[in-house]
Amino acid sequence: MAKAKSKAKSSKAKSKPVMFERVAFIGIGLIGASMALAMRREGLVGTVIACARRPKTRKTAFDLGIADEATKDYATAVAGADLVVIATPVGTNGAIAKIISKHLKPGAIVTDVGSVKQAVVDAVAPHIPKGAHFVPGHPIAGTEHSGPEAGFAELFQNRWAILTPLPRTSPKATAKVAEMWRKIGANVAHMQPDHHDMVLAITSHLPHLIAYTIVGTASDLSGDLKQEVIKYSASGFRDFTRIAASDPVMWRDIFLNNKEAVLEILQRFTEDLTAMQRSIRKGDGKTLEESFARTRAIRRGIIEAKQA
Ligand code: NAP
Repeated sequence: MAKAKSKAKSSKAKSKPVMFERVAFIGIGLIGASMALAMRREGLVGTVIACARRPKTRKTAFDLGIADEATKDYATAVAGADLVVIATPVGTNGAIAKIISKHLKPGAIVTDVGSVKQAVVDAVAPHIPKGAHFVPGHPIAGTEHSGPEAGFAELFQNRWAILTPLPRTSPKATAKVAEMWRKIGANVAHMQPDHHDMVLAITSHLPHLIAYTIVGTASDLSGDLKQEVIKYSASGFRDFTRIAASDPVMWRDIFLNNKEAVLEILQRFTEDLTAMQRSIRKGDGKTLEESFARTRAIRRGIIEAKQA
């Protein structure tokens, strides 16, 4: 399979020069596949190579035309690649960087899509050899689905892609990765890795933790009550179940690798929750209403920013 041609439409057929002749995706799930499809759609890439551990993942990526070649061997995947995208759970990134470092071509750009940035920078950057460039990144886009079959080219449309380049990252490499994200529909922002982790702890990691906890509480209920929760789930609970259906390995790695920021935000959240509890117990409707009015304004702001 590795050398055969997939149903993928090669962008080489197009007359415009491509941005990257050869792009290797280490991990070809929701994010990697969506990037590959979007890059193909925009004619940014010549050949796409997918690397994944399971034959089923590789076959799906090949059969769906996401990748031209698929392999389980990291060295084969990155050999000759102009761009290497690490798109696996963040806990694997350091070990992957160590293996691929010996096989990167001079001038290659390595980027990632991990939902945590400081831990990824610490794990990956030391392995990037002189002459190659590491541009850490994170697209703020996703669904609760996993695997290459979940990928779609429009995923990044009007979403943010945050880049957290290091002081030593080549500005030219950063600019090229930023251009790639813009061409596949995203808006690009730059941040310090630790600042990214604090922002994401609030906007993404804490909400996931709350959803996992609420749905976990429901799943621990006894028989009849549990059935009724599922039957009458249309109110708020259903939305939590969607978030809590997200990939367990990916989210395990996010919490283990963004421990400090998540624990800090969780502490503040716990204090606010206790305040709510007190207002309810005391019958303090004024405080409850004021608090709910404030949060309603946040929702309006998100809609106005077209991020709803
Ligand atoms: P996914 O759909 O579960 O895909 C993960 C991919 O990595 C699969 O192709 C998997 O295939 C492969 N893989 C796992 N471990 C591997 C290893 N050690 N070596 C090679 N391949 C490996 O996950 P995803 O949603 O695309 O997430 C990927 C990354 O994007 C994560 O770091 C996540 O934090 C980040 N991210 C996710 C979202 C989201 O909403 N999902 C949003 C933004 C960023 P095999 O199992 O066959 O190896």
